[in-house]
Amino acid sequence: MTSVATLGSHCSLQVLKGAKDEGLQTILVCEKKREKLYRRFSFIDEIILVDSFSEILDKKCQLVLEQNDAVIIPHGTLIAQMTSEQIESISIPIFGNKWILRWESDRGMKEKLMREANLPVPTPVENPSDIDRLVIVKRQGAAGGKGYFLAASENDYNAKRNQLISQGIISKDEPLYIQEYAAGVLAYLQFFYSPIKEELEFFGVDQRHESDIEGLARIPSEQQLKNTKVPSFNVIGNSPLVLRESLLDQVYTMGENFVDAAKRFVSPGMNGPFCIEGVYDENAKFTSFEFSARIVAGTNIYMDGSPYYSLLYNEPMSMGKRIAREIKIADKSKQLDKVTT
Ligand code: AMP
Repeated sequence: MTSVATLGSHCSLQVLKGAKDEGLQTILVCEKKREKLYRRFSFIDEIILVDSFSEILDKKCQLVLEQNDAVIIPHGTLIAQMTSEQIESISIPIFGNKWILRWESDRGMKEKLMREANLPVPTPVENPSDIDRLVIVKRQGAAGGKGYFLAASENDYNAKRNQLISQGIISKDEPLYIQEYAAGVLAYLQFFYSPIKEELEFFGVDQRHESDIEGLARIPSEQQLKNTKVPSFNVIGNSPLVLRESLLDQVYTMGENFVDAAKRFVSPGMNGPFCIEGVYDENAKFTSFEFSARIVAGTNIYMDGSPYYSLLYNEPMSMGKRIAREIKIADKSKQLDKVTT
């Protein structure tokens, strides 16, 4: 019997609950320190205890997954804690497209795919000496916004970078990525593309709450100026958002363009869940600064179904359940290789 496996973090509860609801077996690869938390949930059939998530690469762990006909659901923790080479070397089927995860982790490749998808991206800044407006400075990979900072000039950039290096938050030789800061309403657009139905579904929108940049907006400017610490963009949680209905057509177009570009550049394409992340400005123009080529933790807010999925499904449908449904349908029609890599 097919089972669904994932790492104990990020959105694992939603993913495994959805799998259980669809009648699949569930396996959690769990760090020993978090065992107590995950034992609370009866929908987890089997827990593989590890000291660190990289043990998923060990023969022992892969054997258990293999014996259980497991499909691994990749999420942000897998990408944050493993290199692209390590992820690509996993022999257990991975839901979606494991090859596109490299395009998510590498800033250069990411920007290329976004441009190919016609997504309006913020202007990149090649060199700190070219900073002539407000920019955001980012780290590689799915760092979750930790160690990101804003700068308005080269001096500002150097001062903040040095401060973060001395605090041990970033390393001296770490390549940083600079892009124009886009101001407006943040929106993280969540999609699911089914290679079986060849159809794109719009699932929902979330907003991320990031500390301590968000906390700064709650204090008067006088106190903000006295704040000498570099504020970070560390994600603490998410909340739901619905868009003006007049924006939905463009949302679908962006999702479809992204699916098309992924098909052309990273076979077999953008299968499964993904997210386009950006900002709506005062003219409701969207600028996209990022994509995630797998389930995002922002879908956790819709564990019982999202507003947009209630338009498509006459049952509560979480993203975790949608993934499991796709696996079930593919399995039944002997097309598992179409939804995994
Ligand atoms: P990312 O890792 O690209 O998702 O960025 C983490 C956070 O930084 C986002 O959730 C936003 O709050 C912020 N951010 C990233 N890029 C930009 C941008 N170009 N303009 C404004 N805010 C941004």
